[in-house]
Amino acid sequence: MARQKSKNKTFFVSHLVHPQTKAVLQSRADGFDIKIEIGDVLADGGQRIKELGNDLIGVLVQYPDTEGGVEDFKALGETIHKQGATFSVATDLLALTVLSPPAQALLANMSAFYAVYHGPQGLKNIAERAILGARIIQEGVNKLGYETGTRGKDENGRVLFDTVVVTVGEDKVAAFLESAEQEHNINLRNFEDGRVGVTIDETVDYQDLHDILALFSSHSNSSQQSITVDQLVESLPGKGKVDIPEVFKRTSRYLDHPVFNSHHSETELLRYIHHLQSKDLSLTHSMIPLGSCTMKLNATTEMAPVTWPEFASIHPFAPVAQAGGYKTMIDELEMDLAKITGFDAVSLQPNSGAQGEFTGLRVIRKFQEQQPGKKRDICLIPVSAHGTNPASAAMAGMRVVTVKCDTKSGNLDMADLKSKCEKYSEELGAIMITYPSTFGVFEPEIKAVCEVVHQHGGQVYMDGANMNAQIGLCSPGEIGADVCHLNLHKTFCIPHGGGGPGVGPIGVKSHLAPFLPGHPLVATGGDKGISPVSAAPWGSASILPISWAYVKMMGGRGLTHATKITLLNANYIMSRLRPHYPILYTNSNSRCAHEFILDVRGFKETAGIEAIDVAKRLQDYGFHAPTMSWPVANTLMIEPTESESKEELDRFIDALISIRGEIQAVEDGKVERSGNVLKNSPHSQKDLLIGQWDRSYTREQAAYPLPWLKEKKFWPTVTRLDDAYGDLNLFCTCGPVEPVDESEDGITGASAPNPT
Ligand SMILES: *Cc1c(COP(=O)(O)O)cnc(C)c1O
Repeated sequence: MARQKSKNKTFFVSHLVHPQTKAVLQSRADGFDIKIEIGDVLADGGQRIKELGNDLIGVLVQYPDTEGGVEDFKALGETIHKQGATFSVATDLLALTVLSPPAQALLANMSAFYAVYHGPQGLKNIAERAILGARIIQEGVNKLGYETGTRGKDENGRVLFDTVVVTVGEDKVAAFLESAEQEHNINLRNFEDGRVGVTIDETVDYQDLHDILALFSSHSNSSQQSITVDQLVESLPGKGKVDIPEVFKRTSRYLDHPVFNSHHSETELLRYIHHLQSKDLSLTHSMIPLGSCTMKLNATTEMAPVTWPEFASIHPFAPVAQAGGYKTMIDELEMDLAKITGFDAVSLQPNSGAQGEFTGLRVIRKFQEQQPGKKRDICLIPVSAHGTNPASAAMAGMRVVTVKCDTKSGNLDMADLKSKCEKYSEELGAIMITYPSTFGVFEPEIKAVCEVVHQHGGQVYMDGANMNAQIGLCSPGEIGADVCHLNLHKTFCIPHGGGGPGVGPIGVKSHLAPFLPGHPLVATGGDKGISPVSAAPWGSASILPISWAYVKMMGGRGLTHATKITLLNANYIMSRLRPHYPILYTNSNSRCAHEFILDVRGFKETAGIEAIDVAKRLQDYGFHAPTMSWPVANTLMIEPTESESKEELDRFIDALISIRGEIQAVEDGKVERSGNVLKNSPHSQKDLLIGQWDRSYTREQAAYPLPWLKEKKFWPTVTRLDDAYGDLNLFCTCGPVEPVDESEDGITGASAPNPT
């Protein structure tokens, strides 16, 4: 995020950034009162940038830009930095294998394996192949008499990467695009000014190039007879060897690390992936009792369709008419989610729960702006809320006021809520509330909470991350909420962990439906929709088949049954553990919702044992830790979901009871407070097998504390690190991933990684 210093904060965006990126930036800037100015960054030697002086907080350019052009931003970068502003570059990682880099290239998780498999030379070949394809098309359309640049430059002499922009003429473009789609099965980019764009990637083959040329040929007035791809390659300088102008040519090395230079056959890649996978304690080993995260089965039938090309290989901006099946699935899922949540309309655009919060609050703000009276920008948030709640409220430009919770029951303090509502009656925008609460209890006064907030003109935002405890039994709409987000990657079976992708759709009551987010390129959202929150019209659309399949396979009765089993499973674990551990919050019948908090705080005094020790020791028993220290410090929050059998629940419970016994041994003075089996956990194979054994417990106690572990053992790969110290002092045990050559790179991007 670019720094904010003056009152007239202006963030300058190049007019050659993708339209969807501009729209999302607008969305993000509103809450911070940042002015987005769009224009030509390089015009008159960057004159406008200089004029902005201290008002300038940052600049975003794209490299290569939305027309495929490449420009030299070195001088501009220096100017921007001198003004104390941030310079960000949106880039295409593939282009950076051949072009000099403007910013350090960070590989996203998903694309990492692509890079591991192809390696630096393979990626360079792919990039050069894309460039060559573009050059062939350009040479061809040139010969057919079209206005376009020549030999890798556009008409203004700007260098092009993988794109060709061709002038067809404003009066002809509609017919041209129609015939491209109908007769040639090709979608081209429409620049809305009589020009069309062709972009080539590695999936474009010889036949595709031929088809693209045939399209242009069929609309050409030129006497030039059709030309073949081979003839065009012959006529290019160097017979198609890609030539990049010196200023842009990349000379620095990249992907030097052995991992990008070792796994270039399918066998090697398969073994490498399997090797990494075997270090992870995942749902394939045992239940993951991570409270609030709803780690449930990702069924094979749900997952398989994600790989089908009909879902996986469609461009997000493909004409909706070509994506009839997709659209049907999206519409049906929206309808089903509306029904489940008791709302009137749903937007699938947000990519995560947090983004759903941000979207929902902006929808609320837009609605509130239309109401008479003062600006309603106060957002009430209970102290128990998930950290994303206050962060989202701040991003939506709201002022956060916290509401107390009763320390005994964990429920919202109604007296405090009423007094805050009265105090801010004129400015109350919304309350954000989680149900069941993050303490794992169905808040008994939830309907009263909604009523009080409504009486004072506020809207109710329900955080629906705990929807797994509601489906089929009650609904946010019926309870009185106006907006709610769902985490499809929790409740609706999309796998998560490792950072997504996720889907955080929001449902709204009819009065908010007009404000659901729109999109600059694809018709979606309400008629007075807020600007988009993600670049793709339906967010992470390609993973929606998972949730669609879940809902369709379960049906209404199945979903309701799952909720009941969820509640039963959590209460079963809690009941069996209650004689051994204190339980933090329950309702008046001593029951929890779909999760509960195990209170281990007392063991610090009696045995020197903390939540972290229990969490680490669980790994020796083959279990992933529950959620630790949230929402209450030094406690463990357990959520089993409906996916676990009684046998698995019993194994987990037995592990925790056995750990309680180990704590008891310390409490009874039979075992030292330090250096015991809990403090040294988890135990790796290396830990137990290499070197002298001089600990006060046996190796067998460490590795096989319960009999079934001899049969079914997960070996943790690393032993204990000092967590806080380790998090603050990262060091790499391997070579640098990306050598940074400051002298060559010149400009440093805003996205430089911060190792802490
Ligand atoms: C997970 C969670 C969120 C945030 O969702 P993300 O998809 O991780 O952004 C918000 N609130 C609660 C209670 C959650 O458990």
